[in-house]
Amino acid sequence: MRAICSHEYGGSDVLQLEEVEQPPINDHQLLVAVKAAGINPVDTYIRGGTNNYTTTFPHIPGMDGAGEVVQVGADVKGFCTGDRVFFHRCVTGSAADFTVCDPNTTYKLPDSVSWVEGACMGVPGLTAYRALFNRGHAVAGESVLIHGATGAVGTIAVQLAKAAGLNVTASAGTEEGERLLRQLGADQIVNHRSEDYLKPWNNMDDGFDLILEMLADVNLDRDLKALGRRGRVVVVGSRGNIEITPRDLMARDAAVMGMALFNGTPAEFRQISQALFPLLDSGMVKPVVRQTFALGDLAKAHDAVLQSGAAGNYVIDLSL
Ligand code: NAP
Repeated sequence: MRAICSHEYGGSDVLQLEEVEQPPINDHQLLVAVKAAGINPVDTYIRGGTNNYTTTFPHIPGMDGAGEVVQVGADVKGFCTGDRVFFHRCVTGSAADFTVCDPNTTYKLPDSVSWVEGACMGVPGLTAYRALFNRGHAVAGESVLIHGATGAVGTIAVQLAKAAGLNVTASAGTEEGERLLRQLGADQIVNHRSEDYLKPWNNMDDGFDLILEMLADVNLDRDLKALGRRGRVVVVGSRGNIEITPRDLMARDAAVMGMALFNGTPAEFRQISQALFPLLDSGMVKPVVRQTFALGDLAKAHDAVLQSGAAGNYVIDLSL
């Protein structure tokens, strides 16, 4: 089968298209014919061995994807050959014609959702849901700031929060991003590259109930000052350190929580995927595909996902 492999840590130039053996499955696994593979910033961290990520070589990148189940392990229940699925954390890498999947991190994909859209749902979709609801405990009527709303996680988070009846403020770094957030139905839009953009929320009476933070090393101190009483910040992304003022937390009875998708349990993932299915099926949540790439162009997708000026997801379309 075709696969993108790397044999050492490095930049996107270590990614090479190769012919490799199709991976075998054990009795507890699924073999999926990958139709589309999602690209996430974490793929670049693993490729480069940065942000505490390591891997073994040869490495086939990619956790996310969508495809068709072609083989089912003897002890697997709930899946049949021919099932349309999306997955996160696949076992052997999604930048390949076939990948081995764990049934605990593989989910049914509605017929109404394309392969390319399905490939946006694994890491970004589950992260957005788990951050908003399982960690952030968002409820209808609350106000939420999606701080970094134009990327893969943020665009789903805006739609999930709107569908759940929250008042959504969403941040972008470009005019194109602002336009996208308007289309997604955000109630207020701010630009995180402008001066004092959180000023309207800088008092406890008007502050946010919840903030989903995509770049905590830049924003956490600012977030705490924009929280209302008993407000919560869920840290989804961070690429360094920051100094905060603990009094901001104390004054508001506020809380800061971390959220790493890796910490989710199989039961939690089942619950989240069941909540996502009808939202996807009805079109209430629709992944935003910014650009598709052929498998051989994975390096270009890895470079693109780290550029600023986000506007949805980058996806490898295996049919190209
Ligand atoms: P992405 O598609 O690259 O999007 C990045 C987002 O961050 C964009 O909306 C970008 O906006 C925004 N951003 C850039 N500078 C910002 C600033 N100063 N203030 C606020 N936002 C800013 O990445 P993603 O897939 O959505 O993931 C977002 C972050 O979460 C990444 O760091 C990723 O590694 C992390 N993540 C964590 C988990 C987890 O389990 N904790 C899971 C998935 C992702 P502009 O480009 O418009 O400026």
